[in-house]
Amino acid sequence: MIVKCAWMYHDIMDLYGDKGNIMTLTKRAKERGIEFQVTTVGIGQQADLSDFDLVFMGGGADKEQAVLIPDLLSRKENIQKALDENTFFLLICGGYQLFGQYYETADHEKIEGLKFADYYTATGKAKSRCIGNIIIDARLDDQTLRLVGFENHGGQTQNVAHPLGKVVHGYGNSFDAGYEGYYDGHILGTYLHGPLLPKNGQLADFILTKAIQKRNPDFTFDKLASIDQPWEEIARKALLDRWKLQDKPEIS
Ligand code: GLN
Repeated sequence: MIVKCAWMYHDIMDLYGDKGNIMTLTKRAKERGIEFQVTTVGIGQQADLSDFDLVFMGGGADKEQAVLIPDLLSRKENIQKALDENTFFLLICGGYQLFGQYYETADHEKIEGLKFADYYTATGKAKSRCIGNIIIDARLDDQTLRLVGFENHGGQTQNVAHPLGKVVHGYGNSFDAGYEGYYDGHILGTYLHGPLLPKNGQLADFILTKAIQKRNPDFTFDKLASIDQPWEEIARKALLDRWKLQDKPEIS
């Protein structure tokens, strides 16, 4: 079995270890005998995103977001095709912001988004950023997961119709949102760097499953053999222990 992943703007959208997400997916696929093939897609590089099972984009500073946006907008039709053909999109922070209506930078420059969702991201109060460790309880199709990570964003994302989860510790979509990220079955956008997947093995397997399902619609989560993840568990427990939290979501 093979999973084809496009890693968009790998050279400029990679904050706080976002590339660890790609490393985690590669490792977890390999341990199940699945080939995880990664193709980087930079500015100006030709690629048909609908050929891929998974598209990943990390976070970046305002400057990088402004630099890449003409290229990203030029791919809008192709991204729509990919979504229609069940390619799964995993977007972190700056990548997540650019799939909404717009992103307003710290200097109040408005960057037009792809508009695949109704949410928009406005500038927060001057010099204020949502920074720190974050823990959320996420709902993903028929399962709930407690996710841990790290966030660092100035943008305040509003009008999120389907948040990924409820904030247990930290900020999330904005200083007072109480909710974090976006999930609609095809696009998962989140402010969690940290990086996200090494500390959240179940989420990594959920995303692997979504990607596999593009070519194998009957594939289910339980068909992935369980794997030992002692270091991942230690990393996650260290964070949960800090706030005396259980490794169990409190939403049903
Ligand atoms: N530049 C964006 C912001 O500050 C995204 C930052 C990020 O990806 N961490 O909100």
